[in-house]
Amino acid sequence: MWSVAGKYAPASELYRDTRVEDKRILSATINTFDFVRELHGGPLGINSGRRSQAKQEELKLEGYRAATVSPHVYGAALDVDVPDGKRDEYLVALILGAAQIMGLPRPRIGYKQYRKGYTSSFVHFDYCFLLPPETLASLPESVRLAWRVGAMW
Ligand SMILES: [Zn+2]
Repeated sequence: MWSVAGKYAPASELYRDTRVEDKRILSATINTFDFVRELHGGPLGINSGRRSQAKQEELKLEGYRAATVSPHVYGAALDVDVPDGKRDEYLVALILGAAQIMGLPRPRIGYKQYRKGYTSSFVHFDYCFLLPPETLASLPESVRLAWRVGAMW
């Protein structure tokens, strides 16, 4: 269910926020990233993995489009850098393809709302709906409704 790191996903990139105490991320998320990295065939940066709630609050104060309850805080999400010379949709296609080939449910993917011009510099994906039932049950209903398979924004 959980992984500390992946073949291509080093802890140094997954836990840039040094306040994160629970250093693990859903295996579905890590395995999807590793597969995407193999499909891409070259280096692929992770600009955000697991975050502390304190980091999440900072992002909001800095004006980023950051959710109050974030899958990053629960270890379900990664933000992957769009490689040089590619557009966000290239990465979205690789993520959806990797999930399908691995037999995983369709992840949630965010990119259009983060665009500046014709592409976003990163793509967010997560499997927050795969978190343990007790974790999901502890969240507000509005969050649980949004944390559904295949959501895109
Ligand atoms: Zn994200």
